[in-house]
Amino acid sequence: MLRYMDSEGKLEILGGYDALYDADGTSRSARPPQMRQAPGGAGVFYAAAGGGRCVPLLRVLMNNVCENDCRYCSINCHRQVRRTSFQPEELAKTFKQMRARGLVRGLFLSSGVACGAAKTAERMLITVEILRLREQFSGYIHLKIMPGQPADYIERAVALADRVSVNIEAAAPGYLARIAPSKRYEAIIPLMEEVRRLQQRYPGLLRAGQITQMVVGAAGESDREVLQTSQNLYDRLAMRRVYYSGYQPVYGEELAPPASALRQHRLYQADWLLRFYGFRFGEVPFDEWGSLPADLDPKAAWALLHPERFPLEVNRASYEQLLRVPGIGPVSARRIVALRATCTFRDLKELSRLGVATKRARQFLLLDGRYLGNRALADRPTMVQDLDPIQLSLWDAQPRCLTPALA
Ligand code: SF4
Repeated sequence: MLRYMDSEGKLEILGGYDALYDADGTSRSARPPQMRQAPGGAGVFYAAAGGGRCVPLLRVLMNNVCENDCRYCSINCHRQVRRTSFQPEELAKTFKQMRARGLVRGLFLSSGVACGAAKTAERMLITVEILRLREQFSGYIHLKIMPGQPADYIERAVALADRVSVNIEAAAPGYLARIAPSKRYEAIIPLMEEVRRLQQRYPGLLRAGQITQMVVGAAGESDREVLQTSQNLYDRLAMRRVYYSGYQPVYGEELAPPASALRQHRLYQADWLLRFYGFRFGEVPFDEWGSLPADLDPKAAWALLHPERFPLEVNRASYEQLLRVPGIGPVSARRIVALRATCTFRDLKELSRLGVATKRARQFLLLDGRYLGNRALADRPTMVQDLDPIQLSLWDAQPRCLTPALA
């Protein structure tokens, strides 16, 4: 039974960190140093917006009453939690007030499914329409789309939001059935396809694209299966981003042990190879069980498996070849190629100034014909410390999402 609760009380519940099992790139803690003193509070989350910028968002549920039984979710229909719900006018007013106080600059609106997906989606759309059409809010809005809602609602969502998400939740239909018995791939994939169709039809809309999420570690899926599905989503549906949410048991329901932060981190690293480094799924290194290497990041592991590609002469290598070198990213590779037109690189310090992680990259490079590494490329154990210094620090901090990004 829902008891009366004021908007502040509702915000405490519906904007709480654990209100919904969503890895959407927002975080309470991932704000840059210059924003550490910025006001926080219920529902205020921060999203990296590129270029070092960080945007505070109201990340909130329309309601936490849900008729579904996703087994990884803290508000599924079987859980004993305090339930409440915003009315569209009430939520729009709450957002407006928080914005006026400088607490938030954008909105991420999701919801539990109450009285069917259509009714829930209608209330979310009305909220966003109030903000966009009546209040003339032109800032960032991310809207969740739920399986089961009518097709014309998707068109409304795409017209109103900067970003939409339909969560695929699992790497394959069988895994989905195990962790979310009331969800079906046949209901999820067509929604994603419809969003893609609308994107192609109206290229000016949805400037921050479509994203999705997979829960990892709950159903016994391998990293290989997870990343194969991601590659398909990137290729077929131009998905802007796939988020990987490491499974954590809720209220004693143990589908599996908690997923490690390291696994989640390795998936994000491999995902970056697919999206930004020109790797194809077939090139990502997995062990015989389909797991990413634990002791090395996937790019360094790939490089060690391909000694025939290295060492690479910095002064002649193409942009694409440089991207394959551990310690060189897209920005530093671009800088190297641009500066090479006017100079010859002879010193690691010159590369370091361009952003190259030289301790790692030196093992794979020639600088004007000279090799400056330790020639131990074939000796994997001795390379691990040099090539993957982040691994140890991971065990100190267990971040929920290590690579947050807004667009
Ligand atoms: S649909 Fe599933 S994940 Fe979403 S709120 Fe309901 S139980 Fe949770």
